[in-house]
Amino acid sequence: MSANPLDTALYTLKQAAELAEIDPKVTELLSVPKRTMEFTFPMRMDNGEVRIFTAYRVHWCDALGNFKDGTRFTGNLTLDELKALALWMTIKHGVGGIPAGGGKGGIVVDPGELSNWELERLSRSFMRHLPMKGAWVDVPGADIGTSEQTQAWMLDEYESITGCHSPAAVNDKPAAVSGTLGSAEATGRGVYYVFEQVVKDFGFSKDCSVAVQGFGKVGSVLAELLNKDGYKVTATSDIYGGIYSPDGIDCALLAEHVSKTGSVVDFPGTKPVSNEELLELEADILVPAAVQSVIGKENAPQIKAKMIIEAANGPVTPEAEEYLQGKKIPVIPDVLANVGGATVCHFERIQGLTDEYWDLDRVNKQLKDWILKAYAQMITTAEQKNTTYRMAAWMNALLKIEASVKKRGWV
Ligand code: NAD
Repeated sequence: MSANPLDTALYTLKQAAELAEIDPKVTELLSVPKRTMEFTFPMRMDNGEVRIFTAYRVHWCDALGNFKDGTRFTGNLTLDELKALALWMTIKHGVGGIPAGGGKGGIVVDPGELSNWELERLSRSFMRHLPMKGAWVDVPGADIGTSEQTQAWMLDEYESITGCHSPAAVNDKPAAVSGTLGSAEATGRGVYYVFEQVVKDFGFSKDCSVAVQGFGKVGSVLAELLNKDGYKVTATSDIYGGIYSPDGIDCALLAEHVSKTGSVVDFPGTKPVSNEELLELEADILVPAAVQSVIGKENAPQIKAKMIIEAANGPVTPEAEEYLQGKKIPVIPDVLANVGGATVCHFERIQGLTDEYWDLDRVNKQLKDWILKAYAQMITTAEQKNTTYRMAAWMNALLKIEASVKKRGWV
């Protein structure tokens, strides 16, 4: 299997489609994007020079609803990466029961090289030049290199162009600009709800140990929620290295340490471990919450955890999953475990369309209901079809998409 994420996504699509007996014409349709857009635009930099930027937006499949999802501002952005992510989002929306299609886009730029004024002009330019947009067309959200602030600028630009308020046209906005409460922590919180259910369903006890690779937006929220609920997080990490304490780490204090020092490294009372060692520790549940492909066929035999919950996108390669399946180490897949962010984006859209804004309890309660419903459907399909949780989640999504594609008469 190549390291190209699009190849991995298409491989999983093919496997799940065969298992679910999806009409081959539907699989063929889902194996290519509906459209890819590459566009360029000039922008004057602070020093007076004009720079030409390259941007993309990929629309995969909109059988379940209009296109939606993130915008990356990264220096090494590729069209294949965006295609893979747009396909993943198509599936993730299907898994989560979210009436939306899969989209993904971005600009080839390292935002760290830009001043704040340049970042604002760039975000506004992206929105101005984006060929298709609007609450019922394509709704860009945040991703790597973008933030609540870039999304607020994008919405403001969209509203300036159209001359009307349209809060549902952009996602991941701050609550002050018609966003939703609970958005920043939605993905980590969703993983936490899945974790709680896994503990019940798979016979773990409250004193089980958990290793969380990555203490970023997703990992830190999850780790702190686990701690608050009395679970023992024995290891965590960031790009600079990891920390380990068999008695458990105080994750609220760790968050303070990270905001002072910029890293989890050297947190008092813990031993250093590398990111590779963290994955191989004696922990009951392992949650990779950093980057893709960290568990491959080389290190899969060293995994000692009894269960893996994928908070990151694609942390376990298909080869590694095959090995882990043989060892009876279940993997709860990314498309289910981290669907909390996409779910709350959908709630943001509902609030924007109705102009009725929810309190945080309502957001969190609905998130829990939605993600646990999707989880239960995944467990049922896995049992009925005697397959992995990843296959089951993808099958559920594909069956929903197939029903819509066929009723629409597309194939
Ligand atoms: P983040 O950038 O906030 O945090 C990533 C963490 O991983 C940081 O602690 C970082 O230092 C660490 N890290 C980065 N590169 C690493 C490496 N090579 N080895 C080990 N650690 C490394 O990102 P995030 O938003 O928390 O996202 C984490 C994962 O979850 C990603 O795979 C992302 O695609 C996925 N995800 C995030 C969201 C979301 O809402 N933020 C939603 C769905 C999926």
